[in-house]
Amino acid sequence: MNCICCNSNKFKNLVKFKKFPYLNTSVPIKSKVKEKFDQLNYLYCKNCYHIMIDPRPKASKLNSLYESFYSYVSPLANKNISPTRDNNFLLFVEPWIKKNKRYSKVFEIGCFDGYILSKLKKHFKYHEGYDPSNGAKIGKKFGLNIKKKFFDSNTIPKAKFDIIISRHVIEHIYNPRKFIKNILSIMNEEAVIIIETPNFEYFIENSKTECFSFQHVSCFNYFSLVNLFMKFGLIPFKKKINENLIIFFRKGNSTKLNLHNNKNIYSYINYKKKYINQKKNILNLISNNFDKTKKFLVWGAGGYAISLIYHFNIDVNKVLFFIDNNKNNKNKKFIGFNSEIKLPNSISNYLNNFDFILIASMYHNDILNQIKRLRIPTKVIILPSKVIQV
Ligand SMILES: [Zn+2]
Repeated sequence: MNCICCNSNKFKNLVKFKKFPYLNTSVPIKSKVKEKFDQLNYLYCKNCYHIMIDPRPKASKLNSLYESFYSYVSPLANKNISPTRDNNFLLFVEPWIKKNKRYSKVFEIGCFDGYILSKLKKHFKYHEGYDPSNGAKIGKKFGLNIKKKFFDSNTIPKAKFDIIISRHVIEHIYNPRKFIKNILSIMNEEAVIIIETPNFEYFIENSKTECFSFQHVSCFNYFSLVNLFMKFGLIPFKKKINENLIIFFRKGNSTKLNLHNNKNIYSYINYKKKYINQKKNILNLISNNFDKTKKFLVWGAGGYAISLIYHFNIDVNKVLFFIDNNKNNKNKKFIGFNSEIKLPNSISNYLNNFDFILIASMYHNDILNQIKRLRIPTKVIILPSKVIQV
């Protein structure tokens, strides 16, 4: 086995989760999908620190699950939500596009509902997007030129493009080299590729686990991503690095890459130890806060909640039900749980049936305030270590 980014054959174990679900999104309550769990094991390359799943689940197995069940909230169809990650991308990218007016055709791979295209299309004469999910249908209703398909060797568009955008796709792809070759075949000579993908180095340095799921087969850091693109004569010329990487590439001669420093390397070596400690602390915190019912609620019904439960071996039988503000989760459940996901206003009917609420969301401050506003008399646990009496 060789690293897809740098060809090295030296790997080390990063972290292992004994049981993780293939599907970490909610499904309709009546759906008959069978529970499917597997061990989720990650290795990292000793040369470029690229992280990969080993062994990989079959792509066909995952793709059919995602095509049927994968969904985000559409920011085009739901004007009340503000998609932070998308808006941050636009803030970084749009001023540059405005300044470089020579571009006329834009293509987005994995555009979901086309929110980004809807904001950028005024700068172009032609736009096109691909997405295999039902997001494509939403985008079409909003008048965008989106096709409901995967981007692969059989579906390459006829046009050549000046700007090609692909956000949060490459980490899901089984063969990123083929993916880049396919992109090269639709590039005009002066074309620019803009890639956004999670920066796994950020997650490693901050001892976070929520990014690890079967969907993320290739986990990049700046160095491994650039190394891979440079193999195809593509060089980076503009970048933003925080928890995500946004990198602009164009054709050119190779440039010198800065290797990892010691600080980064130690965070990979120590990751497993930190994770095991974290797990112990979280399980203690939960068992120390049990009271009469030995049950609790989980607020948040996204991938984050499922990651939390399975990464830290939290006992699923102790979860009374999940709560979520998103009405799209009505009549839905998670595989492996019997009860349906409920809206916050139903909590008051169950006050004697649980000991605390565990918040499993990035928006924990907003949720805590909401619990206070709803006057729910309960304990609230915010991980990694906060307990609040409301
Ligand atoms: Zn490597």
